[in-house]
Amino acid sequence: MPNKKIILSGMRPTGKLHLGHWTGALENWVALQNEGGYSNYHLIADYHAITTDLDTSRIHEHSLEMVLDWLAAGIDPEHSPVFRQSQIKEHTELHLVFSMLITTARLERNPTLKEQVRDLELGPISYGYLGYPVLQAADILLYKGEIVPVGEDQLSHVEITREIARDFNRQYGQVFPEPAARLTQFARLPGLDGKKMSKSLNNAILLSDSPDDVKKKMKKAVTDPLKIRKGDPGRPDICLVFTYHKKFNSAEEQEIRRGCESGELGCVDCKMRAAERINTFLDPFRERRKKYEGHPERLEEILKSGEERARSIARQTMSDVHKAMKIG
Ligand code: SF4
Repeated sequence: MPNKKIILSGMRPTGKLHLGHWTGALENWVALQNEGGYSNYHLIADYHAITTDLDTSRIHEHSLEMVLDWLAAGIDPEHSPVFRQSQIKEHTELHLVFSMLITTARLERNPTLKEQVRDLELGPISYGYLGYPVLQAADILLYKGEIVPVGEDQLSHVEITREIARDFNRQYGQVFPEPAARLTQFARLPGLDGKKMSKSLNNAILLSDSPDDVKKKMKKAVTDPLKIRKGDPGRPDICLVFTYHKKFNSAEEQEIRRGCESGELGCVDCKMRAAERINTFLDPFRERRKKYEGHPERLEEILKSGEERARSIARQTMSDVHKAMKIG
């Protein structure tokens, strides 16, 4: 095992990714990969996907679309293996062991669960959904992950992982590290209507959008409602187009602010400038994407190779677990 710190990060396969995924997670993954000094493992959480949607008919297709977006964003599968949770059976084995180490009361107190039940109007939840963070703990600890890049909404899950690692080690002897969360620096971008960016809300700029798509979508972005025409002073701090400038056009941020506040800059021009900068940002993604687009077999190969590498570590960890528990 290399001395490098192990980083485990993952996403549920929801299909094509958008700029919100970039700012909320992927940017951090790529930066950590390029920093060197870490071993990065990227998990497609396909079992987690069925905790809220039992329809599995598009999971495979969505997994491939997501891998393509990861590669386009700069994930290097040679350096950072990508793999599906469902293809490494040790995830479910470790999940089972961990499920004995945590009480249902502790899981019911999980604030993320409470928020999701409320926001998604889930009604009665399944046994598997309650155990979502336990499977996540298995995902991380199977690779003895020490760093978990997450958004603030996932912090409570990392805490549960730390508790489970501590409890296992106390009961059976030291096997697992207690992983630390690494918070993403830029909060998720809002969608073009100001709500949370989401493909299903039709308010997202996708990483795979063409330059024309980006321009067309940006035209529809909501702005300061009090700035009706060029000449009206605007309030950049309440305008989501300005949020896009801050992220993708930081060199001109102050100039845009002054132009907006004085009224010299009109919203149409301002939006087109943001679209241009976003397109410049996405151009390298488009270039990398060309290598794999239309070649699902290349994506399948990348997954297969990532899964072989992940499986050998997972087997070793389960052997450590069995030895510590004196079973098998
Ligand atoms: S000029 Fe730009 S920042 Fe100001 S309100 Fe219009 S779109 Fe928003």
